[in-house]
Amino acid sequence: MNKHPDPARLLGMQIVDFLRCIRDGKTLSDKDMETFIHGIVEGTVLDYQAAAFLMAVYHMGLSDSLTVAMTLAMRDSGDVITHPEVGGMKVDKHSTGGVGDKISIPLAPLVASCGVVVPMISGRGLGHTGGTLDKLEAIPGFQVNLGIDRFKELLGKHGVCLIGQTDRLAPADRKLYALRDVTATVESIPLITASILSKKLAEGIDALVLDVKVGAGAFMKTEASARALAQSLITVGKGAGLKTVALLTRMDDPLGRTIGNALEIRESIEILRGDGPQDTTELTLELGSAMLVLGGVAKDSLAGRTLLKQAIDSGRGLEKFAAIIEAQGGDPTVVETLAPTDSPHVVTVPSGRGRFVQSIDSYGLELGAMHLGAGRSRTDDVIDPAVGIEVLCKRGEKVSLGQPLARVHARQADPNLEAVSRAFCIEDRAVLAQELIIGRLG
Ligand code: URA
Repeated sequence: MNKHPDPARLLGMQIVDFLRCIRDGKTLSDKDMETFIHGIVEGTVLDYQAAAFLMAVYHMGLSDSLTVAMTLAMRDSGDVITHPEVGGMKVDKHSTGGVGDKISIPLAPLVASCGVVVPMISGRGLGHTGGTLDKLEAIPGFQVNLGIDRFKELLGKHGVCLIGQTDRLAPADRKLYALRDVTATVESIPLITASILSKKLAEGIDALVLDVKVGAGAFMKTEASARALAQSLITVGKGAGLKTVALLTRMDDPLGRTIGNALEIRESIEILRGDGPQDTTELTLELGSAMLVLGGVAKDSLAGRTLLKQAIDSGRGLEKFAAIIEAQGGDPTVVETLAPTDSPHVVTVPSGRGRFVQSIDSYGLELGAMHLGAGRSRTDDVIDPAVGIEVLCKRGEKVSLGQPLARVHARQADPNLEAVSRAFCIEDRAVLAQELIIGRLG
């Protein structure tokens, strides 16, 4: 039965008046917003009205208090998970996404091995090299569709579980996101804020660490826009009762040394073994220490880093990863074998000239990896876990003529290496290293 058969009446105004207020930046009550959002899911607000709402918010913005109301209404549009049987703080991490960003995979078991519960509900990738779920599915047997009861059970047993979004979690976001995609309204700070936080709040977490990426390979291209998004997430998170911290991190070049699902699992295992690349290890420690501080097991960031390093050195982080892989149906021996990458063809891409790597076009590499089959251009594309790209030279490194810049793992013989080769910009002048962590808020 429809709970809100006539949202116009419940709002005390016509939908058109609600839209006029949003269009003109006028105040509305939280209840008006809640009724409108629920009407979108229930079908009493029509798609063209929702699209008009999105465009009005895109141009006029939305007050913090109405963004909180929108976020809570989106959270409450479906199931909201609670964890009364699991003690302690529940803390998760969200990244706005970047090329080669596999941090959730080493981070979740590492933080859990230090005593903070990590309920992680992740998404799939579209238009790039796979999301966290696609990467996890590169582990033979690993199941990401467990259902909420099993999710809660494993969380109680292991302190960590990594699953996929269910249809019943924040359905208003799914509907609105699909409309944003086709109405050119994705890039709006209040809409992004409500979208991210509604899904995270539905997981039943107490605190959230945000990795807001800045740069050419990120959603937010400038520091100012990333800072504005981070501030909005913190303010609205707080208004919705969530402890929130944000790190602004650089995303110009690909993160780490791998792009592609099995390759990224391999790098995640290397991070947990203590021999991962410098940048992905550093980001894991920074985000992880923020989670430990929010989770109440470390008094400050330095103490958090010490705990995480101990978990790496003792092998506890890796053991926790093996335990959760086994609990979720996967083959735990991958943590010893460094995960299979059974691509039949492996070819290197040589440098056309000597000198310094000035920059690496992450978008170019992302496209290269997608064409190999590591990502999707349509939601129904099937991902090939084995294919991908290893970045052998990072920004600032000196290379000689003919030196391999990248290693391409392909399904077909003779893959097109043009996009990969073009992604590396090599020039005579030396370049300074860039700091990975640009700022911290909250
Ligand atoms: N990620 C989300 O979940 N929603 C957005 O709107 C943008 C990024």
